[in-house]
Amino acid sequence: MITDILELGEQTKLRGQVVVLGSGIAGAELATHLARNGREVVLIESGRDRFDPSIQALNDVVFLGKRHRELDPDSYYHRYLPPELRGVSRLRQFGGTSNVWTGKWKYLQPLDFEGRAWVENSGWPIRFDDLLEHYRSAAKDYGFGDLEAEAIRPEITALRSKLAANGLKMSSFYWEQTPTRTAIRFGDEMRRSKNLHVILGATATELKLDDACQRVTAVHCRSLEGRELTVEGDIVILATGAFEAARLLLASDRQIPGGIGNQHELVGRFYTDHPKHHTGTLQPGSLARQYAHELQYAPKPRFCICFALDDATQQEHRLLEHVLYLKPIYEKPMERVWRTLQGRPACRDGNGAIASYRVKFVTEQVPHTQSRIQLGTEYDALGQRKLEVNWCFTQHDERSLEKTLHLLTQRFAEAGLGTFDFGDEPPSLENMTDAAHQMGTTRMACRPEEGVVDINCRVFGTENLYVASSAVFPTGPSYSPTFTILALARRLGQHILQTTPITTQICV
Ligand SMILES: Cc1cc2nc3c(=O)[nH]c(=O)nc-3n(C[C@H](O)[C@H](O)[C@H](O)COP(=O)(O)OP(=O)(O)OC[C@H]3O[C@@H](n4cnc5c(N)ncnc54)[C@H](O)[C@@H]3O)c2cc1C
Repeated sequence: MITDILELGEQTKLRGQVVVLGSGIAGAELATHLARNGREVVLIESGRDRFDPSIQALNDVVFLGKRHRELDPDSYYHRYLPPELRGVSRLRQFGGTSNVWTGKWKYLQPLDFEGRAWVENSGWPIRFDDLLEHYRSAAKDYGFGDLEAEAIRPEITALRSKLAANGLKMSSFYWEQTPTRTAIRFGDEMRRSKNLHVILGATATELKLDDACQRVTAVHCRSLEGRELTVEGDIVILATGAFEAARLLLASDRQIPGGIGNQHELVGRFYTDHPKHHTGTLQPGSLARQYAHELQYAPKPRFCICFALDDATQQEHRLLEHVLYLKPIYEKPMERVWRTLQGRPACRDGNGAIASYRVKFVTEQVPHTQSRIQLGTEYDALGQRKLEVNWCFTQHDERSLEKTLHLLTQRFAEAGLGTFDFGDEPPSLENMTDAAHQMGTTRMACRPEEGVVDINCRVFGTENLYVASSAVFPTGPSYSPTFTILALARRLGQHILQTTPITTQICV
């Protein structure tokens, strides 16, 4: 059942066995999965069916360090979106940020989970194998192509070994034709469900603890229209995105000064994103011409590939993972004439002859304590403290980016992939923007001294509070976090099913 908070009384109390906050990919997946399996679930969502700028404004932050891209109808980014949403990094609407995302699904690689001695604070306390069954089942249920089969397709294997000979590696991702929108994917099921109650227009503002300060007993919610709602539950899951999960923990500081899970002052720290830049072009060489079909971007759905320096090179030069994407730009008639006159061979894929490839450069950053979000001194329309965002980098980030560019330029030419032209604007941390991939603000760790949640995504110091979000990523070397957010949500769903009794009918 889906209800707007305005359909409830001025002050209402509800109860669910599990309370999920947020209806993006993480929250919608978890709430429907638990409800299907006989748990009584209440899902609280700040947004409504339609985009509402006054609700979106609850996401406003104050930037202290590098700024994010911002809402801008003239933005280069996301021309497929209505002007009022172009440049948005996260969305307060039913279905969350999935309403605007582009639908690229990528596994993290096994090595991404392992600590790299040369990257401070790298490594996860779980392994790739802990997520594999969840990646696989999600890919099957959501109808993606088989990424594992794609990885061993003969053309891909051959290209990979040619790249490996030149110190390069590649990985594939699946690009949906119509990106999954959770409000569409799960909307009908939510409306029909007897044991899932979704409340729209309700913003969680505080988590209430028991006297021992170990269990969350209730979530206080408010609406911009002045309605109040209290939801009690046995388990509470924050699926509000990496910024809002940390914000709610910090804002719930009435019973524990500093906020919940913040005994070591780690909530909001280690904030990372994937700085990215669309810059420059690649003139295709012989290898790009040979494998142009593998480099194709359209029509979707399809598998696409991206490139990086190989692991041995990253280790040798103490580099981070910087990933390069190539988007074909097709020849115009005059360019074709010019190429023919010059006697240059055509580079052709299934869509036509390619003039050049547009380059997108996406980088990992070192997780460190100074890159952080914290509660500021300004207030939003609900009287909640706004977040201050200090997104900043280390010297290691800068050195790594510079060295990687140098080596990639050299190796792309040697491998026959082509030659870059970055013009006056080579990628640098100054000219890069965020990729709307907020990560790390409640990082996963084995011990509370090192992170905010344990390996089951439970907030340290609590018995029943969990985070389902890229907030828990200790590092995010690989671009495209959402497949891992989904896999983690599924893993958390499995954990909760094992630890809570069935109370209603199972409708799997
Ligand atoms: C334009 C764009 C393109 C992208 N493309 C890709 C891509 O191709 N591949 C990829 O992997 N990733 C991509 N991303 C990132 C991806 O969209 C996010 O990683 C993903 O959607 C996050 O899902 P989530 O469920 O964790 O959070 P969200 O989808 O942000 O959901 C959080 C929900 O919580 C609600 N909420 C917040 N605070 C409260 C509160 N206090 N009370 C109640 N509700 C609250 C919000 O309204 C929202 O509905 C893209 C992002 C953008 C902006």
